[in-house]
Amino acid sequence: MRETLVLNASFEPLSTVSLRRAVVLVMQDKAVVEQAHPGLRLRAAAVDIPVPQVIRLCRYVRVPFRQRAPWSRRGVLVRDRHRCAYCGRRATTVDHVVPRSHGGRDTWLNTVAACAADNHRKADRTPEQAGMRLLSQPFEPTPADALLLALGLGPSDGVKLPEWLAVRAA
Ligand SMILES: [Zn+2]
Repeated sequence: MRETLVLNASFEPLSTVSLRRAVVLVMQDKAVVEQAHPGLRLRAAAVDIPVPQVIRLCRYVRVPFRQRAPWSRRGVLVRDRHRCAYCGRRATTVDHVVPRSHGGRDTWLNTVAACAADNHRKADRTPEQAGMRLLSQPFEPTPADALLLALGLGPSDGVKLPEWLAVRAA
């Protein structure tokens, strides 16, 4: 299935997202379908929407198009799906991999989501110094991810569309 084009509320093209992501945005009332695949609908128990080719966001979002996503604590938590980078449990804090006292900065590649206990345990040390291992490496969101972050959705997960929601001809 092709990607769906996302327009800002101002009709300015922003990005493309997967069909699944587009449907989630429509189902969450964050976007409306501007153009649909002719003759195709998504059907499930309580869902019947056209298969979107183009959707438009209901609310205008400021997204740096083809630029780097601005770093934010909230963005790091969303990117990491609120999972602690050290133990995988629920994270509520942001940890600087290289501590700020060691010259570490507020960047995507130097920050990870962390649970309060691990953040406290690691304290003012690098993972090596603290004897802690990162379960996954921090990464910089792509421009498409930046759009999802602006909408409060993670780049690779967030809201899941039910597997049984299939595309059928109308
Ligand atoms: Zn943890």
